[in-house]
Amino acid sequence: MVDRLPPGKVPWDIVAELVSGELPSEVRLGPAAGEDAALVEIGGELWAVASDPVSFTAADAGRLAVIVNANDVAVRGARPRFFLAVGLIAPHEATEERVRELLTQVRDTCRLVGAVLIGGHTEITPGLPHSMVVGTMLGRVEGEPLTTGGLREGDLVGMTRSAGLEGTAILLAELGDRLRSLHGDEALEGADEILAGDWLLVAPEALRAAACRGVTALHDVTEGGVGEALYEMARASGLAIDVQRSAIPVLPATAAICDDLGLDPLGLIGSGSLLVGCDPKGVGEVETVFAESGVPFAWIGRAVAAGDDSTVTVPRFPRDELIKKTFMSGIDAVIFDMDGTLVDSSYDWPAIRRRLGVTGASIIDDLNGLPEPDRSRRWAELEEIEATATAEATIHEGANELLEVLADHNLATALVTNNSETNAQNLLDRFGLFFNVIVTRDSGLWKPSGAPVKEATRRLGTAPDRCLGVGDSRYDILAAREAGLGGICVLHDGTGRHDGEADLSFKDIPGFIRYLKIVLK
Ligand SMILES: [Mg+2]
Repeated sequence: MVDRLPPGKVPWDIVAELVSGELPSEVRLGPAAGEDAALVEIGGELWAVASDPVSFTAADAGRLAVIVNANDVAVRGARPRFFLAVGLIAPHEATEERVRELLTQVRDTCRLVGAVLIGGHTEITPGLPHSMVVGTMLGRVEGEPLTTGGLREGDLVGMTRSAGLEGTAILLAELGDRLRSLHGDEALEGADEILAGDWLLVAPEALRAAACRGVTALHDVTEGGVGEALYEMARASGLAIDVQRSAIPVLPATAAICDDLGLDPLGLIGSGSLLVGCDPKGVGEVETVFAESGVPFAWIGRAVAAGDDSTVTVPRFPRDELIKKTFMSGIDAVIFDMDGTLVDSSYDWPAIRRRLGVTGASIIDDLNGLPEPDRSRRWAELEEIEATATAEATIHEGANELLEVLADHNLATALVTNNSETNAQNLLDRFGLFFNVIVTRDSGLWKPSGAPVKEATRRLGTAPDRCLGVGDSRYDILAAREAGLGGICVLHDGTGRHDGEADLSFKDIPGFIRYLKIVLK
């Protein structure tokens, strides 16, 4: 199977070797991780050049294309001046009215940021799911140029506005009705008020901050949210950043929406926010500048020496949290683990492994590898533990409703369990759980191998990459990955120990149900 790269930015490691190399001396800053605008000397002047597509949202792509590119040059301390636009119009949106609308947005927004449209290309592109605008902005650097990587040890790091603002706007635009009916208009009022304003354009305050003497680095938050932006700034500067998570401003509405959808606001696309690195001596001036601009600003961390690697004390997000919104649209079937996931059977696996003397990855494989009579004795012991756990098991809150919600949306379900057929059937009968397909260890296949999961997809008649695996343990993650499932959802992961390994993660089944009710069409 071909390993496809996940949606989002292409990992820098892949890009780096192909875009690096000798550059002429007039290129003052070329391709570099986390640096969103190049710096070139033209006719004795320094110019910043940035290029960015707008792909997430369709309605105002023309306006956004100008703003994100204006932001990218402004963080270099450059005033946006000349703009080029490539408009790729999706066939289903290819009306004269739509093209006029896109170009009007581009022209009007250029005027707003002080730039002029100097060229580009517009076409109807077959196969596009929605229209896109790819913009290129040139801006003249007014003082000393700033970079993402200019941060110095001991500098304070601050941010404007709040985390995940752009993601909040996108989610409210697309899922607003469902979110409003969950929370009521009042809970989202604060966000509505802010989002009605010019929150996305950071160029004016970036230019003012760039003029402050103490400012050493500027970076605008985009995909991957403030978490990824902090990581990019740390890496570009060769430093670590000690971030106080609680100091990062998050709007109540953003927090509520993220909670509904199992998203981390720190990893949610966050254009509209600016990261500022500043020498401690310049702190007062920066605070004054933002206060005068009427832009909320908070110090959130400090640059410190990097250990072996540039690190940040909050998670990074190579994949934007917004992806989770559309995740279920590629899914036709859901494959469940049973114990710990749907049924609370309170196995203490570490204690059981110690008791049975298991050291390998798989208890079943370990026991099968023992010589007789140990093999039979240990198996009898395991079966006794399982029988007790089965007798005492209770069902997790919401398990029946979860299966009903999936059935209502025509999603097929399978159960893949390492438990025995007898125990599994006992639990399913007792709790009234139904699955289209059941694979137990009696099939001769068990996790963490992907084989039983693959067998379930075969019996479901669904391609593995159209299936979501739902489990509670590393076994489930390993098996889902080996079987090539389209995704993995971890439930009851209160401590977040599988963060970054799972595509979705919820602390309980009702949380997963709430997510499904919002995102399933
Ligand atoms: Mg389990």
